[in-house]
Amino acid sequence: MFESLQERLSGILDALTRRGALSDADVQAALREVRRALLEADVALEVVRGFTDKVRERAVGAEVVKSVTPGQMVVKIVHDVLVETLGSDAEAIDLNAPPPVAIMMVGLQGSGKTTTTAKIAKRLAERSKRKVLMASLDTRRPAAQEQLRVLGEQISVDTLPIVAGQTPVQIAHRAMQAARLGGYDVVMLDTAGRQFVDEALMAEMAEIEAAARPHEVLLVADALTGQDAVNLARAFDERLSLTGIVLTRLDGDGRGGAALSMRAVTGKPIKLVGTGEKLDQLEEFHPGRIAGRILGMGDIVSLVEKAAESIDAEKARAIAERMRKGAFDLDDLAEQLRQMQRIGGMQGVLGMIPGIGKMKRQLDAANLDDRVLKRQAAIISSMTREERRRPEIIKASRKKRIAAGSGTRVEDVNRLLKMHRQMADVMKAMGKGKGGLGRLFGI
Ligand code: GDP
Repeated sequence: MFESLQERLSGILDALTRRGALSDADVQAALREVRRALLEADVALEVVRGFTDKVRERAVGAEVVKSVTPGQMVVKIVHDVLVETLGSDAEAIDLNAPPPVAIMMVGLQGSGKTTTTAKIAKRLAERSKRKVLMASLDTRRPAAQEQLRVLGEQISVDTLPIVAGQTPVQIAHRAMQAARLGGYDVVMLDTAGRQFVDEALMAEMAEIEAAARPHEVLLVADALTGQDAVNLARAFDERLSLTGIVLTRLDGDGRGGAALSMRAVTGKPIKLVGTGEKLDQLEEFHPGRIAGRILGMGDIVSLVEKAAESIDAEKARAIAERMRKGAFDLDDLAEQLRQMQRIGGMQGVLGMIPGIGKMKRQLDAANLDDRVLKRQAAIISSMTREERRRPEIIKASRKKRIAAGSGTRVEDVNRLLKMHRQMADVMKAMGKGKGGLGRLFGI
């Protein structure tokens, strides 16, 4: 799912991030392409419109965080709007009602309703330790009730005994009664589907809803159906009090439009997604993760977030200025280390920049990991003010004191002092136009 959309979007946005400055026209052109990509992915037209309008508004008013490029900023905005379109973070199935809590499953035939019923039952029984009863209300398809019974055996969840000749509403009543008498926490009601939405189906669903008074009414929809899924959701939502959506076949190679549109069109949360035929292939729906997957640029997004949160651009500039003048002392180094740590350490920062794998490996080899950063910060904080300003006065006895104070060894103190000297030298050289980041890390 989402592969072709991902390819398109990352292509468009990649081109944006590579530019230094962005004009209004650049953003407009990119948005036109984003719009086309979304439509091709089968996202509902009204959703696409709302999406691009929102991005445009925010891009125009956005203040670009100092340490990122305008293109990266646009990626972040597109990402945020995508997350909003997909809905808020995973909403769990709500069992907060007097038991037995009824969960009614509705949807078209073949959408994966029965499978999903068993998947949810399994999850509630195993993870939430609930006593679950499943009942098939599908009297139309002769094998449906039997199918659920077999699934129940597989996952060790009870099913309501089959009684021939009962109507769906009668079965619903019997299921609720059996659950009350049997001390069940949850009753899963698997209803019949049809090939298409029709009045007979809707009337039956409404009757069952009235009889069982379910706490959750979950629409099971096949993610491969694209635009149709949206119409389906609308139709069910008009007649029933839908509480959420379960999207199945997210493992398929659909274009993903349904996933993007359903929430926006119905306002109902996508609570779970099916990712395969096996009964444990059910996952929570995390808009952030899905958006990350669709954009393929989660790294830039977190880079912008972290930069916005934590880098104090003014401070960084002041340090850079001092470096250029060759006045880079250990207080400055400590500040740098703090900033690095705040944005997730060296590993964090480098891991976020695409294509930096090679450099990262070299740094790993140089052992510049987060533990080292912390140790270095500890060493500096064990120094006196005078020592931090004038590291050259730190001789053997002071080193011993500093090492003891920071719980490190004299050689660690030596290493830090050496690193500081090298950095100060490189910074000075950079200020004069020589060297670069590579030299800074000795690569
Ligand atoms: P129902 O008619 O809505 O009850 O649909 P079923 O539960 O009988 O499912 C129809 C088919 O879809 C079965 O072969 C399931 O194994 C399959 N299926 C259900 N959910 C998923 C899913 O998330 N991914 C995949 N790949 N197949 C699924």
